[in-house]
Amino acid sequence: MTISPAVMEKLSRLGIRNELDLILHLPIRYEDETHMFLISDAPPGKTVQIEGLIVHNEVVVRPRRQLICHVEDSSGLLVMRFLNFYASQIKSYAIGKRVRLLGEIRNGFFGAEMVHPKCRIVQQGESLADTMTPVYSTTAGLTRKVLGRLIEQALQSSENMLFLTETLPENIIRTYQLIGFRESIVCLHHPPPDASMDALQVRSHPAWRRIKFDELLAQQLSMRLHYRQRRNRTAPILSRKHRLIDQFLRQLAFTLTSAQIKVADEISGDLAAPYPMQRLLQGDVGSGKTIVAALAALQAIDNGFQVALMVPTEILAEQHYQKLSIWFEPLGIDVVWLSSSQKKKQKQLTQEAIANGNAQLAIGTHALFQEQIAFHRLGLAIIDEQHRFGVQQRLALRMKGAQSNNVPHQLMMSATPIPRTLSMSYYADLDVSIIDELPPGRSPIVTKLIADNRRDEVIERIRQACHHGKQVYWVCPLIEESETLQLQTALQTYEALSKTFPDLQIGLVHGRLSTHEKTAVMSLFKQGDIQLLVATTVIEVGVDVPNASLMVIENAERMGLSQLHQLRGRVGRGTEASVCILLFQQPLSEIARKRLRIIFEHTDGFEIARQDLQLRGPGEFLGARQSGVPMLRFADLERDEELLIAAQASVDDMLSLYPDLAQRHIERWLGEKTEYLRV
Ligand code: ADP
Ligand code: MG
Repeated sequence: MTISPAVMEKLSRLGIRNELDLILHLPIRYEDETHMFLISDAPPGKTVQIEGLIVHNEVVVRPRRQLICHVEDSSGLLVMRFLNFYASQIKSYAIGKRVRLLGEIRNGFFGAEMVHPKCRIVQQGESLADTMTPVYSTTAGLTRKVLGRLIEQALQSSENMLFLTETLPENIIRTYQLIGFRESIVCLHHPPPDASMDALQVRSHPAWRRIKFDELLAQQLSMRLHYRQRRNRTAPILSRKHRLIDQFLRQLAFTLTSAQIKVADEISGDLAAPYPMQRLLQGDVGSGKTIVAALAALQAIDNGFQVALMVPTEILAEQHYQKLSIWFEPLGIDVVWLSSSQKKKQKQLTQEAIANGNAQLAIGTHALFQEQIAFHRLGLAIIDEQHRFGVQQRLALRMKGAQSNNVPHQLMMSATPIPRTLSMSYYADLDVSIIDELPPGRSPIVTKLIADNRRDEVIERIRQACHHGKQVYWVCPLIEESETLQLQTALQTYEALSKTFPDLQIGLVHGRLSTHEKTAVMSLFKQGDIQLLVATTVIEVGVDVPNASLMVIENAERMGLSQLHQLRGRVGRGTEASVCILLFQQPLSEIARKRLRIIFEHTDGFEIARQDLQLRGPGEFLGARQSGVPMLRFADLERDEELLIAAQASVDDMLSLYPDLAQRHIERWLGEKTEYLRV
């Protein structure tokens, strides 16, 4: 089969690079031209096919130019209306011509009508289609017809038969009551007339079920292989030691929650293994992940290795530095902080300390893994707020200190909980630990939704709160289109609030401040010298000031769910009852209304994440991770959870009992995309 370069280029825009991709380019919907309806019998609201003779044909210009034809069959009359049409259509739809129409019959101004039906001239007695008509998604410059023909050719070509051979062993097919792969492919391109149109459209038809199972299985297989490959690499054995950890726990002002103990134990076990840990630590905002990271760091340091802690913002780096210095310095551990704001000399000293091994814990933003930073003996890399980093950045850090086949352990922490189905699929190559309880004594955060025209009440609340010794965050609107505009708004808000509250100490923090300035403002807030902190979304992640118990978020309708949840998590960290006020501007869009409702009704990050996934779909939800992982095209994680579980349960059997089939299966589905497995 030869395809011109021009067409190839268009196909590649659809992700089609070869004939096999053509075969897997499955229809987005179907048209039923296997049945014929009489005009008077056609069910309203359904797309139907009818046939009749043209008995009238005219172009009218009221209210706008349109072509009107009357079509008659033995049961009645139908008006066919075209708002855009070619001159050739006026000619060909001449009186006396027999036409077949496919469309939805509606009761219009002129009686029963079809607007812009699919219409073609036929001869009397022409047979009906013997399968349903597939409709494929396509791209500009490539008509559905041409694409359909290419797919048809690929399906017919005998060379492709091998591609269609079964890759599942009999027992899996039986256990999950699947139909054959080839049968499914043929059926989905050309469903028989008796197939259920509904089942095809909502993709619950057995043929779709099979395809979705296969797609999920391919993903599970590749993830499992990735997982096994990692186990074949070596990492430093960081055995459990008690010297530093016991000393550390003794000086701690509180006791660990049982959830913290459980996850710390899981991590500790991984570190003692001879292959690299790759564990995702999930815990809602405020669940106390930092201390778990500290325990892991101590185990590595006690074994004579260095630890890197990477965070997404400078504010967070600085905060972690302060906290961990206070915790670690009494233990005689050298903690360093690498910041873009440091003077050249200072930076150089820090880099030297990292390179000669004097620095046992290094904290910083992605500056930590730039070329010029070389670790002496990196044993563990911890990534806080991992969802904020891209795949590439995380890989770069992992490769740091990876001498030959010796890879440092990696702990990723995320406060954006990953819904179960997502972690079973896209994160299946990682081990996951979950902190499922908050430290005791937290009082729940009360969320209030207040329209912007009731600002006065909010101002009054702030006054009250500050007079009672509480501290307040005021979060300025996120303006994605322009950072300058966002900054302006923050400055204006700061000025306006300063006028409103002449007797309060008000601070301002935003992304354009130097690290030094940010640090200064944040420490004043932490010490209680600032009562009201006006901030942009730079405070979104990690910031921990337990005395702050009121937060106002302006234009909350512009923010995403996880961002709102993260921001809100800045309060409710102490024992004080906390309030988060979401100010919103009317009118609200449908999606904004849904988001605000979810954040108002729920405080559990896992539930919010689950609903967010439903609202946005996995592509957007995954964000950064998406770039490195093939997305699912057919399976829908929420709706196909049952198939996901089945695919997961089949992986081990496939790999151990049917390795050849497994290999073919992966190649069929992932082809070149399996490249990412090797990193
Ligand atoms: P996150 O999981 O959001 O990173 P942090 O590690 O910042 O949470 O912890 C939030 C707050 O809870 C911090 O002030 C921390 O010192 C405190 N904390 C952590 N664990 C406990 C505990 N077991 N008991 C009491 N307070 C705790
Ligand atoms: Mg944190």
